[in-house]
Order: sequence, then structure tokens, then C-alpha cells
Amino acid sequence: MIPFLDLKAQYESIKDEIMPAVSETLASTQWILGDQVTAFENEFAQYCSAGIGVGVNSGTSALHLALLAAGIGPGDKVITVANTFVATVAAIDYTGAQAVYVDVDEHTLNIDPGLIESAITTQTKAIVPVHLHGQPADMDPIMEIARRYGLVVIEDAAQAHGAEYRGRRVGTLADMGCFSFYPGKNLGACGEGGIVLTDNPLYAEKIRMLRDWGQERKYHHVHKGFNYRMEGLQAAILRVKLRHLDAWTTARRDIASYYDELLAGSDITCPWEQSNTRHVYHVYAIRVRDRDRVRQHLDKSHIQTGIHYPIPVHLQAAYATSRCVSGDLPVTERAAGELLSLPIFAELGKHEAMQVNNVLRSALKETA
Ligand SMILES: *Cc1c(COP(=O)(O)O)cnc(C)c1O
Repeated sequence: MIPFLDLKAQYESIKDEIMPAVSETLASTQWILGDQVTAFENEFAQYCSAGIGVGVNSGTSALHLALLAAGIGPGDKVITVANTFVATVAAIDYTGAQAVYVDVDEHTLNIDPGLIESAITTQTKAIVPVHLHGQPADMDPIMEIARRYGLVVIEDAAQAHGAEYRGRRVGTLADMGCFSFYPGKNLGACGEGGIVLTDNPLYAEKIRMLRDWGQERKYHHVHKGFNYRMEGLQAAILRVKLRHLDAWTTARRDIASYYDELLAGSDITCPWEQSNTRHVYHVYAIRVRDRDRVRQHLDKSHIQTGIHYPIPVHLQAAYATSRCVSGDLPVTERAAGELLSLPIFAELGKHEAMQVNNVLRSALKETA
């Protein structure tokens, strides 16, 4: 069996470093916020070359609080994509603002900067680009448009820890950058976690208050806040794992280029890496006709795959509106029917990638 992701293999490789960090944090009794969280916030901000990091309890909370810190609320519109995990849109919805979808670029599957301007109205307050699958969105034109219209830009970098755009790490390319540390992400906790990065001390201060009941100091609630605090144990574990992130990213990129090599000349479209970027391959998503049959074939050969994502957010039952219906986002909708994510994680061997290639090729023959 070749799993889509093998968290056990990763854990086994670093268990001896995690255990002392866990027992130290348990003994310290700083289980919520505290020294480990502060240290991780600083180390992750430094890793990305950001000024400030504020740790929270999930990537969704990071997005929610970043939007609130930017003053987004009812009556506002926020431009984003439907080709994303539902959390991007849920966070916008939590604020009372309305998500406005823009279609994605055919090659990168990230927001198409050429379509943003025509989606802007007087109610538009922000843009939330998503660095989908670990590939940076094309931030220069996005920032240029945002500055011209006075819009806030918040990066959804939940899938892109360590990814780079023109030599700069994602999460630092806009007003705020939001990350998730869900276990399956490129940098994952042993539970939930998230962080907001920013260079703006006013945003950071607001988010620090909002994550902890809007308190200025204990029992002085100056904002309506939330219980969105990061746990000490998760921070301690993330500090250990951050030291391995670059090696894991290199391994992911090696597997990705090996897949590229193996699949060259087939009917499969491999992920397209934009020049001047460093894609971190959270997901290695191919595009293939007759996707569901190909997937079944892989499944029968015990190769696990994923689909990111089968139903774009604008067509999800909970988020469907008459403002954006089937047919309105043709590139997004076509991709949803063709994308297939192959196994990728740092511990995956070349031999296994070769096996995936062999099964894929016989599946293509059968479905041709
Ligand atoms: C995972 C993810 C999130 C949400 O992060 P959680 O930590 O699961 O709340 C948001 N956006 C994208 C694109 C994601 O992949």
C-alpha cells in the first residue's frame, strides 16, 4: 500500500526530539500561550523574515482574526477564489462580509490577477489570495491593484510554508499572512494550530487581544473576542519540527521533479511551476481526463490519492448563492473535474513514485 500521506513515518523520525520538548512543556504547566508559544511565534516569523507572529489555535482562526484586525465586517466584500479549501471562505463569512469569487489561472490554479479589477466595487475592502497546493499566487500584480484601490491583502498561506515568490517567503508579501499547522500541512502540529504574520504592530496587537477574549489586560475586555489561543504543547512540537522543514521541503520538491520526469510524454498534465517561485508541493496535483476511472484504478492497486478539491466552494450546498453559479468560474470548474493528487511526503521513496507512475500509465491505457 502506498499512502497519500504518512504521518507515522515522520513522527518516528523525530520522536526522540519531540518527547523531551513535550515533557518539558508539561512540567512547565504553560499549556496555553506562554514561553513556548512566544518562542515559536518569533522563530516562525524569523523563518519567513516577517516582523511579528501571533499564534492561534487554527489556520481558520488566523484568517478570521486577520480579517477582523483589518476592519472587515458586514456590508464589506472580500475578493478570493472558489478553488480552495472551504476555510478560506468560511473565515470571510464569519466576519459578516461577503466572498466575491474570481476565477483562477489555467496553469497555476491560483487567482488570476487579470480578473481582479473588474470584480472590485465600492464595497470591496480586501483580497485573500490562496497559495494553492504550495505554489505562490502571482503577488506583484495583486499588490499593485490592491494599493491602487486601497484594499487590504491577506495571504492564505495555509498550504505554503516556506514557499517563495521572487526570493521572498510567502506570508510576508502582503499586509498579513495566515498559516495552518493542521497535522497534514507541510509544517503540522500534533493537533490544531495557526499563525498570523505581519509587519504592522497595530494588526498584531489587535489579533493578540482578539485571540484571548479581546482583553487589554485580564478581565478588561475592550473588544468582543474569542478563545483562539495557541497551546504550549503544539508550539513546543512545532519548534522541533520547524528545524526539519527545509529538509522536508527539499524532499518534497525532489519527489515532485521525479514525478515530472516519469510522467513526461504521457497524457497527464503535471503541476506547472511559475518562474521566480519556489513551489513547496503541499499537494502534487496532476490533471487527467477520466479522472474518476483513473483514480479507481490506482485505488485497486492500493495507491491512495486525493482530490483538491472535487467541488469548488461556490457550488457547495452551504455556500452556494445566486451571485455566482455553475458556469461562472469555468477554469475553476474544469479543474475540479480533472485534478488528482498523488502521494507526496518527505519519506516517500523513488521506488514508490515509480510504482505510482507504472500504475498510472496502465490506467491511462485502460481508459484510453
Ligand atoms: C488547511 C487550510 C485552511 C484552514 O486551516 P485549519 O488549521 O484547518 O483551520 C485554510 N485555508 C487553506 C487553503 C487550507 O488548506
